[in-house]
Amino acid sequence: MLDNTTPNQRLPATLEYDDWSIDDAADIYGIQRWGNSYFGVSPQGKVTANTLNTAVPLLDIVEGLIDRDIHMPVLLRIENILDAQIYRLNDAFSAAIDETQYQNQYRGVYPIKVNQQAQVVEEIADFGARFHHGFEVGSKAELIAAMAAMVSKKGLLICNGYKDQEFIELGLQARRVGLQCLFVLETPNELDLIIECSHRLSIAPVIGVRLKMSSQVGGHWNSTSGDRSIFGLTSMQLIDVVDQLRKENLLDCFQLLHCHLGSQIPNIRDIRAAVAEASRFYADLIHEGVPLKYIDFGGGLAVDYTGNRSNEDQSRNYSLAEYATGIVETLKQSLDQKHIPHPIIVTESGRSTVAYSSILLFNILDTTCFEASKKTTDSWLNNPAHKDCRNDLLIQNLISIFDYVSEPRLQECYNDALHYRQELRESFNSGNVNLRTLAYGEDVFLHVLQTIKNELQQLERIPTDLESLRGDLADIYYGNFSLFQSLPDIWAIDQIFPVMPIHRLNEKPERDAVLADITCDCDGKIDHFYVGAEPSRTLPLHSMRSGEEYYIGIFLVGAYQETLGDLHNLFGDTNVASVRLNADGSFDVVKEISGDTIADVLSYVEYSPSQLELNFRNTAEHAVKEGRISPRQRQEMIKMFKASLRGYTYFEKEQ
Ligand code: PLP
Repeated sequence: MLDNTTPNQRLPATLEYDDWSIDDAADIYGIQRWGNSYFGVSPQGKVTANTLNTAVPLLDIVEGLIDRDIHMPVLLRIENILDAQIYRLNDAFSAAIDETQYQNQYRGVYPIKVNQQAQVVEEIADFGARFHHGFEVGSKAELIAAMAAMVSKKGLLICNGYKDQEFIELGLQARRVGLQCLFVLETPNELDLIIECSHRLSIAPVIGVRLKMSSQVGGHWNSTSGDRSIFGLTSMQLIDVVDQLRKENLLDCFQLLHCHLGSQIPNIRDIRAAVAEASRFYADLIHEGVPLKYIDFGGGLAVDYTGNRSNEDQSRNYSLAEYATGIVETLKQSLDQKHIPHPIIVTESGRSTVAYSSILLFNILDTTCFEASKKTTDSWLNNPAHKDCRNDLLIQNLISIFDYVSEPRLQECYNDALHYRQELRESFNSGNVNLRTLAYGEDVFLHVLQTIKNELQQLERIPTDLESLRGDLADIYYGNFSLFQSLPDIWAIDQIFPVMPIHRLNEKPERDAVLADITCDCDGKIDHFYVGAEPSRTLPLHSMRSGEEYYIGIFLVGAYQETLGDLHNLFGDTNVASVRLNADGSFDVVKEISGDTIADVLSYVEYSPSQLELNFRNTAEHAVKEGRISPRQRQEMIKMFKASLRGYTYFEKEQ
């Protein structure tokens, strides 16, 4: 009865694929939907990074890194993708400007907060120089980083955020050395300080004003806009600024109008509505005599993390070209009606600029399968050793479910299984059945659930109660990473990132799994995915093969994750490798940054590694005195302690 089913052999997600091919893998994991044409699947079943008309398997890069002693987990940055994203953004605006015959130009700026890593900022400065792509900063530290990194002197350096005297003086000095530094007023009070500093240093400022917009957008960050937004000036405050600047004879300095509706705006209609609103303000300020030159629409260009091209939070219902055209066309139409000259268009796209170029790569360390032990077979069942278990009435009830486990009665089977299992546990708690019987019963219970789960695949509509069964019975794959360090938005805001194995895609994945990290935190798991364009609590993965590594990639992680990550369980920064792909299919490791050592993370939380070593030496010396260990053993232990302090915080294989 029990051994004629093979639970978990076929998954609902992969069931419909009889003859598995790499196209099916691409479809299930959605690589063409979210990959923005940067990723593909090779005929050998490997995920490739595609640029320069060549496709380089990520597995080759992983193996190349390991040969260079750069171990998993690794944050892989692909320079060409960052380069291409900056090109595509500037190209999209330039095409929209040509198409609509807009009479001015586009100047992009990169908001440093989205990924402040020196290497990323330097690359953006280099790759963006040909477009005079600038930076947006929100603090003194970011301003200093941008001032030092700026390659093109024509690029804008836009200062948002609350500004103290030092911030303003730094920005004014930046103007003196030829950088196009602009201050955007976050509050009216900043104006007095800017005027005072500029008089004192005799450097004229260029000022922008951030609008408090009434347009509301969809998505997670919609509180950035609307009446209760904590950012921007009201229309009354805006008029006060105009009057004050006029009075001070500084109206010429007011050159930029700024608005930012929030990050990851999924709906193009919201973007057009906001542009229309900002254009109205722009037009009336011109009529007020303000010599505006720039209009800055902030960030918000979304990344299609789910690949569904919809107006859901983690997606977007527009392409980059539609985004650029939507802005340029709406602005032009609005200003043309009032015969107002076209300003320079600025956007501050961060997420979409850097998300694609970083991939978190890690190996799977172990798995747990929620399936009945292989022992639950007829032979085990009939084994005389389990006679007592079989005689138990509750066990017999559980086993009897197999007699009616088919379509019209699946819900009933599920209810019965839960009921008998509960009774079994209560019986165990009150001492009426022993541990062996409990274990036997739990095993039969799991087997019943798996049989129900397999039967569900035949149904058109799954009963609500049973929908969670797949997730409840999914395997747990333990990955060598920390969610809190590398993917904090999954924990904080239920962010979806595309996740998939980077090899074996020519084999049908036969397991249904969730991912767990190596922190000891029950939140350190990933159990929300998009599979075959549908939300799913589980991800199809391959069975582990003994002696072989299984590598997973988490994609589109370049924006916001690195800096927001924290030291939960003292897992530190991962190793980082930056590669440049070459047209001949080879790659160069252009930069490698070793992840934090154990000594590093301990010092972040105020330990002194040398003091720790000293304490341990003393403890070991004490043990020698007590005769617990020999002096030689002490020496070996201290050597090991020191090596561990220098070691990686993640799981390391024995060398
Ligand atoms: N500009 C400002 C003022 C921001 O606050 C942000 C982030 O929220 C951005 C730009 C970047 O937005 P995004 O990452 O959506 O492009």
